[in-house]
Amino acid sequence: MRIGCPKEIKPQEFRVGLTPHAAREAMSRGHEVVVEAGAGLGAGFSDADYVAHGARIADTAEEVFATADLIVKVKEPQAAERKRLREGQVLFTYLHLAPDPEQAKDLMESGATCVAYETVTDARGGLPLLAPMSEVAGRLAPQVGAWTLQKANGGRGVLLGGVPGVRPARVVIIGGGVVGTAAARVAVGMGANVTVLDRSLPRLSYLDDIFMGKLTTQFSSEGAIAELLPTADLVIGAVLIPGAAAPKLVSRAQLGQMLPGAALVDVAIDQGGCFETSRATTHQDPIYEVDGIMHYCVANMPGAVARTSTQALGNATLPFLLALADKGWKRALAEDAHLKNGLNVHAGRIAHPAVAEALGLPL
Ligand code: NAD
Repeated sequence: MRIGCPKEIKPQEFRVGLTPHAAREAMSRGHEVVVEAGAGLGAGFSDADYVAHGARIADTAEEVFATADLIVKVKEPQAAERKRLREGQVLFTYLHLAPDPEQAKDLMESGATCVAYETVTDARGGLPLLAPMSEVAGRLAPQVGAWTLQKANGGRGVLLGGVPGVRPARVVIIGGGVVGTAAARVAVGMGANVTVLDRSLPRLSYLDDIFMGKLTTQFSSEGAIAELLPTADLVIGAVLIPGAAAPKLVSRAQLGQMLPGAALVDVAIDQGGCFETSRATTHQDPIYEVDGIMHYCVANMPGAVARTSTQALGNATLPFLLALADKGWKRALAEDAHLKNGLNVHAGRIAHPAVAEALGLPL
């Protein structure tokens, strides 16, 4: 099969759908790989890196789309890319179709078979192609929080780990899932005093077990959050209610009870944010202040570390990509119910029940 990897054209997207090592794995199984010139540059992979592993470089996106049987990407295809998709072609990428009827219409019209990363499942009920990005965003959260707390950035001038004789910063993490656990790991590693809140008792037990006393767990309630806010230096929002907007867990009025210059990092901003005063920001202009409290609300945090993110995403997508290439999409999906859950568009129709319902379209 011929696998094509175009350069991402969504603004500020530096990741790439295929690493040189992943390309090599596909080629060692007899597939051909075509990569658009410059596709890997944002993630630190040159054309020569791909060529060294045996891939062919195409000068244009047109060429990649025109020749490939299977297109692998990162972001949802932009309008220009959607025009290039055709019947019989397989697209494997993030789609996030539910809130995007225009994209859904174009993909249905293209006749392509579209498998979305975000709805592929695993045996434990997780989303294995979303988890790596949550790992990245979670590990970044204390890092950007520490930066936001610096005086020059408007923060209260507190070092997360403190120093001998000076107490460390108090970090409150709301939501102890993939993001929250990854954030806790780094915050604990930086020497902060960490409390993680969640509404899932099994999750709190798990955290208590793995951190062995290095952090405090607390059941998440309005009262618990209200008690913790007045002494917190950094609050990280990491909640998720699947399929719903993030609940607002800190109100504007509560900012007045916080320490001046304290920082809020709202990782859940891609689901609307879990602080009332959150609004999405960009890597170019990531922080703003409301009532003396610094907010960091970048909606695509993994983009800051495009190379790590590309490798992490590539590790997770590779087995599925190889299955699609080796077996063809029909057999690959028939033999793997979790990959089948990724099927979003086929033969001009939406093929995923929840996506169809969200779009108000028939299955
Ligand atoms: P997850 O499902 O693994 O974890 C979410 C956790 O939130 C669960 O443990 C759940 O029990 C808990 N929760 C739900 N309601 C709660 C409440 N009221 N109080 C405390 N905990 C509550 O999800 P995740 O992968 O960790 O993702 C968390 C959020 O981060 C999502 O909104 C996700 O979209 C977002 N995210 C953002 C970025 C970014 O770049 N900004 C990147 C990756 C993920």
